[in-house]
Amino acid sequence: MSRYKDAQCRICRREGCKLFLKGERCYSDKCSVSRRNYAPGEHGQKKAKLSEYGTQLREKQKTKSYYGVGEKQFRKYFEMASNKKGVTGENLLQILESRLDNVVYRLGFGTSRAEARQFVTHAQFDVNGKKVNIASYLVKPGDVISVRENKKDNSTIKTNVEANAVRPVPAWLEKDNEKLSGKVLRLASREDIDIALEEHLIVELYSK
Ligand code: SF4
Repeated sequence: MSRYKDAQCRICRREGCKLFLKGERCYSDKCSVSRRNYAPGEHGQKKAKLSEYGTQLREKQKTKSYYGVGEKQFRKYFEMASNKKGVTGENLLQILESRLDNVVYRLGFGTSRAEARQFVTHAQFDVNGKKVNIASYLVKPGDVISVRENKKDNSTIKTNVEANAVRPVPAWLEKDNEKLSGKVLRLASREDIDIALEEHLIVELYSK
C-alpha cells in the first residue's frame, strides 16, 4: 500500500526533478525529491549513462507526467505543434499550458493538476459563462475561467484558493480571488513555463 502512495513521488525521483504531482506535499520539506534526490529502486543511486534515445525518451516522459497527458494525446499535441508557425518544441509547451486543467491549476484552484482535472470533469468550472467539463479544452486569449455559480460554496476550492494565495500566477493569466475566476491575457510563452526541460529533445525523438 505504501508503495502505491509513493507512486507519484517515484515518477519525480525517476526524472530527477519535482513534477508537482501531489499538491501541498510538493511545496513542503516532505517532498521525496528534496529528501532523496536519486532514482528509486535498488540501483537508484548508481548514475546510469543514458543513450541519446534514452535521454530524449526521458524528456518526453517527464513532460507527459508533468502535464498528466497520455501518449496518444501527447502525440496529437505534437502534430498540432508541428503544424503551427514557430518553434515546434515551444508550440508544444504552449498547447499543453493551454489545457483547461492546467489553467485551473495555474490559477490556484487546484493544488495539483490531477485535482484540477477532477474539478473540471466534475463540472465545477465555466469558460466564458458556459459549463466546460473537458480537461483537454484549450483556452484562448480573452477567455474567462470561473467557478460555476452553484459551486462557489465548494469548500475544497475555497481552501485551495487561500492555501495557494502565495503561489505566483503566471504573467499570461490574471486571477480574481473575490470572483473565483481568472482571465487568459495571452498564450503562454516559453519564459512563462517553469519546468526545467529541453523540449527540443522531444522534437528530435518524434522526428526519427
Ligand atoms: Fe512527490 Fe510532489 Fe515531491 Fe514530486 S514534487 S516527489 S510528487 S512531493
